Amino acid sequence: MVPVLIVLNAGSSSLKFQVFDVLDGAEPQLVWKGLYEGLGGNAHFVVKDAGGIVLRDEIWDEGRPTSHEEALTHLVAWLSQFREERQPVAIGHRVVHGGEIFSAPAIVDESVLQRLEVLVPLAPLHQPHNLEPIRIVRRRLPEMPQVACFDTAFHQSQSDIATLYALPREMRERGVRRYGFHGLSYDYISSVLEGYDQHVAERRVVVAHLGNGASLCALKGGVSIATTMGFSALDGLPMGTRCGTVDAGVVFYMLREMSLSPGEAERLLYTKSGLLGVSGISNDMRTLRAREAVDTNAKRAIEMFVYRIVREIGSLVAALGGIEGIVFTGGIGENDGATRAEVIEGLAWAGFTLDDVANRTGGPLISSGKGPKAWVIPTNEELVIARQTRSVLSTMPSRIAS
Ligand code: ADP
Repeated sequence: MVPVLIVLNAGSSSLKFQVFDVLDGAEPQLVWKGLYEGLGGNAHFVVKDAGGIVLRDEIWDEGRPTSHEEALTHLVAWLSQFREERQPVAIGHRVVHGGEIFSAPAIVDESVLQRLEVLVPLAPLHQPHNLEPIRIVRRRLPEMPQVACFDTAFHQSQSDIATLYALPREMRERGVRRYGFHGLSYDYISSVLEGYDQHVAERRVVVAHLGNGASLCALKGGVSIATTMGFSALDGLPMGTRCGTVDAGVVFYMLREMSLSPGEAERLLYTKSGLLGVSGISNDMRTLRAREAVDTNAKRAIEMFVYRIVREIGSLVAALGGIEGIVFTGGIGENDGATRAEVIEGLAWAGFTLDDVANRTGGPLISSGKGPKAWVIPTNEELVIARQTRSVLSTMPSRIAS
């Protein structure tokens, strides 16, 4: 019987899962990955094996909204058909916010759960959805060990100054500071980079996580020293539908002059801005690339995205005191050669030279010459959750071996 870990990543209407074999001493091995989407309506369930072969693909036409609880119950039932071969031993959860308290993954007990609930106001759009499956599992499978793995924890290495806003001290004492996100992705890149280039991995690197959410992280010797996201996942780069950095004065303008409620302003900044807001067409880079030659709004949105990435990289290079490498990851970073080429072109001042052929074929090394190196490396946040879950639970020897 092989022990397996279940990794869960819950959103407002979705539940993504991956199942990993965990054998003594070996890296967790992906067995199945799947998704429940459209929760709250007619949900869609799909599960694939590690090679991407679809094992089940079904729409739940229940005629009533389906819940996260039903999805979890369904997942447990689906997994139970394999109980002769594979036994779930723990669940690792992606939790967006660990605040200042959690600088490492944590085994969830009642007191941890309460402390995570206190952090809901720091990430009101994400944290409640991340915590819901934890609560459901505690109720339905109270013996199942659960581990919370945080998007913020990787950035706890940053200096006090790097995380400080120029606000009154009481605000900092309340926890109003830069936290940074996408930490599970940066943890993964940091963990594999030396396999690509040990010299670069030990030095100054900017990782560009460019997906529907987007941020940059400055790594010095594999450790985060600065990042573009701040108090919330709204800061920094423009994203699919999020604005990235805007002057806080814009928010007062929306509230006072446009009479928006705080909730309406929040929705505008989170869901109607970014590539979608500027293009008026789509938040999807593929759609914008397909239209850029014929639609000035698509072209403008892409130009703004690239311009802001290059500017923010300049800021991180200053924080690092120089740069030996850049890594592109996330849906856009991994797949959109045009964005990578435009960013590298904008970084010519830092000595980067693009290897055009390598870039078109996906690298992984896409720079040439003696200057800093550029890489394309697919991220794997779920593997980091599996690694962290295993590592935390290895302190409970009856559960799992490290
Ligand atoms: P999330 O932040 O939700 O995890 P992803 O990392 O999956 O998002 O990235 C989604 C983005 O990646 C979308 O903007 C999508 O257009 C872009 N993307 C995915 N594949 C390609 C591709 N082949 N070419 C260009 N962009 C792509």
